[in-house]
Amino acid sequence: MTTLETTYAGFVAIVGKPNVGKSTLLNTMLGIKVAPISSKPQTTRRGVRGIFTWDNRQVVFVDTPGLHRAQDALGTFMNREVRNATEGVDVVLWVVDTRRPPADEDKDVVQLLGNLKNVPVYMIANKTDVAKYPDEAINLYKALYNPKRIYPLSALNNPQAVYALRDDLLQLMPEAPFYFPIDIRSDQPREQWASELIRESAMEALYQELPYAVAVKVNQWRDAKKKKDQPAYIQADIWVESANHRMIVLGKQGNMIKEIGQTARKQLEVFMQQKVFLDLQVVVHSNWREDLEALRELGYAS
Ligand code: GDP
Ligand code: MG
Repeated sequence: MTTLETTYAGFVAIVGKPNVGKSTLLNTMLGIKVAPISSKPQTTRRGVRGIFTWDNRQVVFVDTPGLHRAQDALGTFMNREVRNATEGVDVVLWVVDTRRPPADEDKDVVQLLGNLKNVPVYMIANKTDVAKYPDEAINLYKALYNPKRIYPLSALNNPQAVYALRDDLLQLMPEAPFYFPIDIRSDQPREQWASELIRESAMEALYQELPYAVAVKVNQWRDAKKKKDQPAYIQADIWVESANHRMIVLGKQGNMIKEIGQTARKQLEVFMQQKVFLDLQVVVHSNWREDLEALRELGYAS
């Protein structure tokens, strides 16, 4: 690319209720794992950006935590993030799950879409690989909000359809200078990325024993010293709300925390391309979800 060439760049917000496949869509679109994924809702708490640059065109994706009914300070923050993420964007991707008809949470999202002014909305009718009646479901969603375009696809099992969508998005970008250097694919700090990954592993391991009252804070990070054969060192705290929760996260004879640590470490190693020593502590921080100071420390509030 010469410096004289015209460039096109803009923002794409991804919205939808929890668990519909927003993070999966983003990851497939980027070809790397930027946003944490879990089979449980509430895994993505922050608006994570992914950046895709192709030739003289750049798309900045904003992944959102999924609109949900605010119950505490954390919930309020998450909903605000969603609203911020949809302001000033060029397109909104509204992800729905075609396995099911719309639920109340979908209606909350639709309300948000109704407030958008002059922003095209594309419906991403996801999970068509496992939906029994995708067309019927799409019609029900369409009745709530009529999008400009509809893309039936499977973010998990049909990358070609996702790439076709990505091409359309690239073409849609307005003339603008690039927002990020061409080799940058995420603006998430590595500590934040690692803490989300560790939290994802914890939520997977704990399944339904803890809802979403765990947070992870990375305190130390030393890169590997390959010459000395030293692995990278990452120390992180898992925050829980009570001594009882702490026991659950530790597990019998520390089995649970060991499992969490192993899963997280393996993933960190794959993405960092280094051996990792992951040092996890479980600390009780009662009521952290209502504690603005604590939320700030975790990067959930500003
Ligand atoms: P988010 O909360 O909207 O970000 O949803 P995630 O991307 O975390 O996905 C939630 C769950 O749905 C995960 O278990 C994904 O593997 C699964 N999932 C996402 N997209 C698809 C899809 O197209 N087909 C199937 N079968 N599963 C999917
Ligand atoms: Mg997500």
